[in-house]
Amino acid sequence: MEDERKELLGQAAGLLKKYFGYDTFRKGQEELILAILSGQDALGIMPTGSGKSLCYQIPALMMPGITLVVSPLISLMKDQVTALNQAGVHAAWLNSSLTPNQYAKALFYAEQGRYKIIYVAPERLLTDSFLRFASCADISMVAVDESHCASQWGQDFRPSYLKIPEFIRLLPRRPVVSAFTATAARKVQEDIRVILRLNRPRVVLTGFDRENLYFEVRQPKKKKVDLLGIVERHKGESGIIYCSTRKAVEEIHQFLFVNGYPVTRYHAGLSDAERAGNQEDFVYDRLPVMVATNAFGMGIDKSNVRYVIHYNMPKDLESYYQEAGRAGRDGEPAECILLYGKKDVATAQMFIESSPREDLDDAQRLLILERERERLKKMQYYCLTKNCLRAYILDYFGDQASHYCGNCSGCLNVYEEIDVTELCRTVLNCVWESRQRYGAGVILDTLRGSRTAKTLQYRLDRLPQFGALEGTGMDLLEQTVHFLAVEGYLDITTDRYPVLRISRKGREFMEEPHALTMKKQIVKQQAEKTAAGGRSGGFRAGANAGAVLSDDLAGEQNALFLRLKELRIRIAKEEQVPAYIVFNDKTLVQMAIRQPSTKAQLLEIQGIGTRKLEKYGDRFLEVLNG
Ligand code: ADP
Ligand code: MG
Repeated sequence: MEDERKELLGQAAGLLKKYFGYDTFRKGQEELILAILSGQDALGIMPTGSGKSLCYQIPALMMPGITLVVSPLISLMKDQVTALNQAGVHAAWLNSSLTPNQYAKALFYAEQGRYKIIYVAPERLLTDSFLRFASCADISMVAVDESHCASQWGQDFRPSYLKIPEFIRLLPRRPVVSAFTATAARKVQEDIRVILRLNRPRVVLTGFDRENLYFEVRQPKKKKVDLLGIVERHKGESGIIYCSTRKAVEEIHQFLFVNGYPVTRYHAGLSDAERAGNQEDFVYDRLPVMVATNAFGMGIDKSNVRYVIHYNMPKDLESYYQEAGRAGRDGEPAECILLYGKKDVATAQMFIESSPREDLDDAQRLLILERERERLKKMQYYCLTKNCLRAYILDYFGDQASHYCGNCSGCLNVYEEIDVTELCRTVLNCVWESRQRYGAGVILDTLRGSRTAKTLQYRLDRLPQFGALEGTGMDLLEQTVHFLAVEGYLDITTDRYPVLRISRKGREFMEEPHALTMKKQIVKQQAEKTAAGGRSGGFRAGANAGAVLSDDLAGEQNALFLRLKELRIRIAKEEQVPAYIVFNDKTLVQMAIRQPSTKAQLLEIQGIGTRKLEKYGDRFLEVLNG
């Protein structure tokens, strides 16, 4: 048993080096690969960028038959198939982007057994032509990528995912079924098991932390000024700026463009051709700064994205962590900065309330609406908390976390602790006396004694709390309400017009007050300096030759690195693939530092496998030895 295990792992490690150029497996990969190879179903729950694809690609190469990979998006399939073919694995995709002719041809090759791995859109599975193929083919595994799409608890529910088990049942022999997702919510996990009918799966849940990512939330008076500062600090590097609307994308794109930055843009309002072209400009580093809506990014495995800025708050933390997680896939330090504005909440709410969800019935629709409102609230609290942001995220995803990571604005900003016991009591009393019927705006107006149309109409000027906090600044009052909400004393309802309610914890506090202290920021963006330096002295490899490099690379190494990059760009152009698919930045940096002079030495570097050594080894050695 143990010997067999070792034997299989040895083979798997061989393929890892041969096709992907890596020496060691990451957390969770071996366990999933072994389970699959022993014929067990598997469920891998690992964060974005942790390497889920290899968990099914490597077994796929070792199993006798074909592996079908169900994947929700065309861009996702394309990227993966390109990377596989580049690494020397025969793979193909079948989706609506193919003409009928191309589709027939691909199926023909598939029937001939030409492909080891076939990516397929879920809508295709039950079509006649595909079923005909599948019923004759030797299918060893069905791998369901982004499998949270099967769950209504997930953020991207796709009804077509519900058909997967039906497809599997129609196969002559039940293959191994494996499922992968970055969504850790327990309900989603449970749904995936049940809906996909996983048979006693091996479940592997790795930690959700991405240590190399720095997290920050800012609430700037002028977002554009902040944005410009960040983009300038990362000059020559690749980054993504997410906006919540097409209009905002257009505006920010224009703004950065006239300020001279190499930007492109992506949203659903552009033609297919333009979107594809812009995406390519970004991926190939011709225009390394992308301004986009959340339509952009799924399946883009660009490893050198050094920062992801959210110009608006997204609608839930699942989306945020996924989008922010596109930074630093190469494991080097990268920044995730969210520019929060009060208006963002209303925009997100509008999106949630107006989403058509045509494929659902009324009951489902209502259920999903409720859940989305709840998620939005948690997202907003992320923007308001003064505590460790990483801890907040990990806690949300049900992961263990310490309260101090030292690599987020929550930990790095400098705060003073102020006593807010009395302030909190007064706020809570006011909410209570006004019978928990009003939002934060009305409550704060009441406390400050403002005779607005609303406070007068609702006769709030008769409350004992009216004007009780007259001399207190609006900033401090708002912060106090946020503090009470984030700490669970107040509940902000998720209705269209959010109302403040007192939670049980709040009521207990009113009955038996204890001292409450709140963090108040005194030095703004102290974190910026630290973040710019990077935590572990990481390199800063720019997209343009000539860009700033790391402290790690001394002058001569730096020059060599730039020459290696030039060669990489030449090869990428010849083969018409993105540069990072040839070798990623990390691999080139290692080459520049270790300066291998033989093929054997080259093979020792992370990211160089035997396939790529054959293809590119001589040319890189020429530069290295030159
Ligand atoms: P996920 O699907 O989990 O978001 P991917 O499968 O796209 O992540 O992998 C992210 C990156 O990590 C890819 O560039 C991949 O080549 C790399 N990677 C995967 N496994 C390893 C490994 N064992 N060692 C080094 N890099 C790896
Ligand atoms: Mg993936």
